Amino acid sequence: GALIAQMLVDPVGLILRWYDELQVAHVSLARLVGVRDIEPDAGDGSLDPDGREVRADRVHFGYREGVDVLRKVSLEVAPGTRLALVGPSGAGKSTLGRLLAGIYAPRVGHITLGGTELSEMSAERVRSHVALVNQEHHVFVGSLRDNLLLASTDADDAELWAALGAVDADGWARALDDGLDTEVGSGGLGLTPAQAQQIALARLVLADPHTLVLDEATSLLDPRAARHLERSLARVLDGRTVVAIAHRLHTAHDADVIAVVENGRISELGSHDQLVTADGAYAALWRSWHG
Ligand code: ADP
Ligand code: MG
Repeated sequence: GALIAQMLVDPVGLILRWYDELQVAHVSLARLVGVRDIEPDAGDGSLDPDGREVRADRVHFGYREGVDVLRKVSLEVAPGTRLALVGPSGAGKSTLGRLLAGIYAPRVGHITLGGTELSEMSAERVRSHVALVNQEHHVFVGSLRDNLLLASTDADDAELWAALGAVDADGWARALDDGLDTEVGSGGLGLTPAQAQQIALARLVLADPHTLVLDEATSLLDPRAARHLERSLARVLDGRTVVAIAHRLHTAHDADVIAVVENGRISELGSHDQLVTADGAYAALWRSWHG
């Protein structure tokens, strides 16, 4: 849609640096830190809009002691741009997504948002800046209103309806007998998977984080529902920084930059065209997706 078209014609402002070599990383980061002097923790907790880049700096992480599933991962995503993570199953993509969303902290290295280490922010502050979107836990037991208020406890009903409208969910929601008071989740109204995902997207609209980590699942939806949801999603993503864990060709193809994750490391980084030309792992993956 509009987002994709805009990114294709206007990749200006895209900065993504990949520090593979320790030495390069040290020098470049020192320079970056030197020129940036923002105070993201001041006052209302807002970040300078120009200082919202997401950065991983030589990150090592494992779920169990002695077993690292991410090793020396470094990257930077400029505000408003889109990074796709691709690679084989078990490579560490979802793990990296969880770290970038502040769910876990690195064992070694740093994950920063606008220069501030995520592990130094309160969980609430992290959530106001970055959200992880995946297929899990979309709907909780409670009313539709309760489900939406999880994102934004002070929103009034007009705002909740606006959020539902923004994700094309107001049609079916308005038809509910009890409206926002309708019980959803197990035991309540049986929502379709697509409706459950719309509720998750409406929560995002309400929470309004500037950065999204999207752990895309191989689709559980029928093609028509998937297309419908895709349009809503494109609108929600518009203008935000997006890290998308991609299982599908076009998610990677439409990204500003693609990082190939293999065995806990970033093995390739570049635009779709660059990586196809380089004829490495991404090119092979692309060919396999293609046909
Ligand atoms: P991908 O998303 O690329 O398929 P993951 O990040 O899910 O890869 O997994 C990377 C490695 O970490 C795998 O070896 C996987 O078994 C392991 N792993 C993932 N999640 C957990 C977890 N919650 N606890 C322990 N090990 C995990
Ligand atoms: Mg995964």
